[in-house]
Amino acid sequence: MNKDFEKAVEFHGHICPGLAMGYRVAKYVKENYPRSKDEELVAIVENKSCSLDAIQQMLGCTFGKGNLIFKDHGKQVFTFYSRDKGNALRVYFKGDILEGMDRMRRRYLKGQLDEKEHKEFEGLREQIIQKIITATEDEILSTREVDLPSPEKARIYPSLRCQECGEAFMEILGRTVDGKVVCKECFEKMVC
Ligand SMILES: [Zn+2]
Ligand SMILES: [Zn+2]
Repeated sequence: MNKDFEKAVEFHGHICPGLAMGYRVAKYVKENYPRSKDEELVAIVENKSCSLDAIQQMLGCTFGKGNLIFKDHGKQVFTFYSRDKGNALRVYFKGDILEGMDRMRRRYLKGQLDEKEHKEFEGLREQIIQKIITATEDEILSTREVDLPSPEKARIYPSLRCQECGEAFMEILGRTVDGKVVCKECFEKMVC
């Protein structure tokens, strides 16, 4: 196994087609979208599946750092914005390669496969991972430069203390109930 892929597998916890997809996207970005070491790369991701872990591990785009933005579109689309250059690269992972597996996946997830089918499914899965790893970029990726307004930087707000639970929270997320300033968690418990 390739070293970079190995590291991504270690981070993710298991080997799967989704992670292999993310690995190919991250590899492409590393090789074709060069940037200086300290430059911030922002990833705007349109799914929260396994592929995302390869993006985080290989490109250093994480929620904690604020350079990972999630849009719940359920698409294998990843857009990378370079703050230095002010341009963005959109990468779409073509799903065709997974089609052979989709046929059985629904039943697999429901635990409806018998032993023989289960083996078949595992074999298919392994083949697909191999295919994803070895495919040419043209076969699996569709990429283009896009115009994008600069993504907002993560902001840090002052803290307030919740008058219900006593825990500190980010001011902008505060709510008031019966004249008390409370955190969002308490607010939801008190009014819902
Ligand atoms: Zn996975
Ligand atoms: Zn509270």
